[in-house]
Amino acid sequence: MICAHGVNLIESWQLESTKVNLLGLDRQGLEAFFTGMGEKAFRASQVLKWIHQFGVDDFEQMSNMSKALRTKLADIAEIKAPEVVLDQASADGTHKWVLRLDSGNCIETVFIPVEDRGTLCVSSQVGCALECSFCSTAQQGFNRNLTAAEIIGQLRAAYQHFGVTHRDERKITNVVLMGMGEPLLNFDNVIAAMNLMTDDDAYGLSKRRVTLSTSGVVPAMDRLCEASDVSLAVSLHAPNDELRDELVPLNKKYPISELMAACLRYANAGNRKRKITFEYVMLDGVNDSPAQARQLVKLLKGVPCKVNLIPFNPFPESKYKRSSQKAITRFWDILMEAGVTTVTRRPRGDDIDAACGQLVGKVMDKTKRQERKIMQQGGVA
Ligand code: SAH
Repeated sequence: MICAHGVNLIESWQLESTKVNLLGLDRQGLEAFFTGMGEKAFRASQVLKWIHQFGVDDFEQMSNMSKALRTKLADIAEIKAPEVVLDQASADGTHKWVLRLDSGNCIETVFIPVEDRGTLCVSSQVGCALECSFCSTAQQGFNRNLTAAEIIGQLRAAYQHFGVTHRDERKITNVVLMGMGEPLLNFDNVIAAMNLMTDDDAYGLSKRRVTLSTSGVVPAMDRLCEASDVSLAVSLHAPNDELRDELVPLNKKYPISELMAACLRYANAGNRKRKITFEYVMLDGVNDSPAQARQLVKLLKGVPCKVNLIPFNPFPESKYKRSSQKAITRFWDILMEAGVTTVTRRPRGDDIDAACGQLVGKVMDKTKRQERKIMQQGGVA
């Protein structure tokens, strides 16, 4: 079978093993695993370093463990990452990897270097169930949630590509969950993967530098508040319910008033005082007028935030056009004059289809209607 990018795929899902994949276990998961087999909990630290810092897949190489333990681990566990089947570099330094999963599905991961930062954009689901009208991932349909191993496997693949394991030399300084899928509809696996991103024995990123982007799954935003304190981005895209219902259908379930209340709870939880990033895709003649900018200013009043204007990235069959530079500047001016910190995201990697909303991967079975319905209703599967 041929993947969207011309890669020959061999379906290997029939060969799925029953061994525990240690790649997706965070510290807590590994501690439970080791104590469950009668070992000391500190083994978790050792294995985290081997897997994530030294990129080892083979227990034989874990030289600070006894031969007996290594043999036992090889019997019951494995370290299995999704396989990189395509590796593309853009003229602007952006890099895209296509990873093949066990079930024959493909996902995409993108690295975006900007001056002294390197941001990795990670996928959380195969496809997406939310059907935002301007997003090409939505057109792919939804297949399934990624496992924690498949999420963190994207980070590990990028680290391995750059051949850098030492903290000070690393190229990846930020991770954003803005690839394919809605991360809050894959809650537990996303939390485990983010725990690994921020664990000092794994990737050691600061929580501020890991950003989860959501379309606004309100109950899961509150759960996130309890489970983690990573940075939060919210895909707003419209200043009123009428338009947002059209662009982000999840808005019918969680309208703007509820979304803004959840944002305030997240920003003010504990001693956090965190700014929420609002993403706003700029669609020509749809959401980019001065009146809409003023409506947005009103809506954001009192919410600690910044706004990220994203020029729309077109894709085949999309019914929208990118706003003109003039409209984007005018919109930006109105927000800035009202005291709302606003940045315009420069489109990156469009020559390799790696820009926002262009990540499509390969979704094998798009007809999982029942699961999709649950997702659309905001159920946390
Ligand atoms: N489901 C999550 C994360 C994935 S989308 C969310 O909605 O936030 C990541 C960001 O890219 C979102 O802000 C999304 O709205 C934006 N995006 C999607 N399609 C786009 C397109 N064609 N052009 C520009 N931005 C797009």
